[in-house]
Amino acid sequence: MKIILVTGASRGIGRSIAKTLARNNYKVIANYNKSFEQALDLQNELKKEKINIDIFKADVSKRNEVKKMINYIINKYKKIDVLINNAGIDQEGIFQDISDDEWHNVIDVNLYSVFCTTQEVVKNMISNKSGCIINISSIYGTQGGACSVAYSASKAGIDGITKSLAKELGPSNIRVNSIAPGFINTDMNNYLSKEEVNKIINETPLQKIGKPEEIAKCINWLIEDSFTTGQIISINGGWNT
Ligand code: NAP
Repeated sequence: MKIILVTGASRGIGRSIAKTLARNNYKVIANYNKSFEQALDLQNELKKEKINIDIFKADVSKRNEVKKMINYIINKYKKIDVLINNAGIDQEGIFQDISDDEWHNVIDVNLYSVFCTTQEVVKNMISNKSGCIINISSIYGTQGGACSVAYSASKAGIDGITKSLAKELGPSNIRVNSIAPGFINTDMNNYLSKEEVNKIINETPLQKIGKPEEIAKCINWLIEDSFTTGQIISINGGWNT
């Protein structure tokens, strides 16, 4: 059975990924940080379907917490087949107003976490000569977003990691890809007004916003695939920002 770590799985896209993969007979370790109740709720929801997942608290921007989580998984399951670096936070505001703290926080949680978690996991994948790493970046990483400079920089950085690591780890039979979602209906977008959401819908060729399950479907496909690596896969209804 494939062992899969999903970071930031208590809510939103990560939660949907964890649920979809667990229902498809993968062994899922669902990471959370602040939302223990939601993580427990996810575990209990799946338990009712006779599916067991592990939940594990770790702030993925902290090396020591990531190390503990990876050690827990390797001790229990002996391997990690798939890593999904999904945890992330938003940072909105005009460029001149971004403080050093805000900059460092979004870079730590969104980008350093991918560096650090992947580094801890990849040792095991290299010795197994097999692995699949999927990073959740964003349409803003490729297209940029006004009033979203720090967030966009963190996501562009993730895509840089994806492309470079795919080259470095390909000979070890490890595939590395990014999924770059457009607008997906989660808590992250709660700050937008109804009018702003409608504007995005009007600008989107498919005339709708995405659901977390639509990202989860692609993740499932990528895990089963064997010849896709170094790609930034856009899932955005045709929206170009
Ligand atoms: P969300 O609903 O706000 O959920 C964010 C998740 O990340 C939560 O489970 C949260 O866990 C976790 N998280 C945040 N900081 C963490 C940390 N330091 N350590 C561990 N977990 C942490 O957001 P979402 O929309 O599902 O976003 C998921 C990913 O998709 C993010 O990387 C985001 O940038 C990307 N994305 C989203 C959209 C969109 O439109 N929604 C578009 C493009 C890309 P806790 O609550 O437990 O702390």
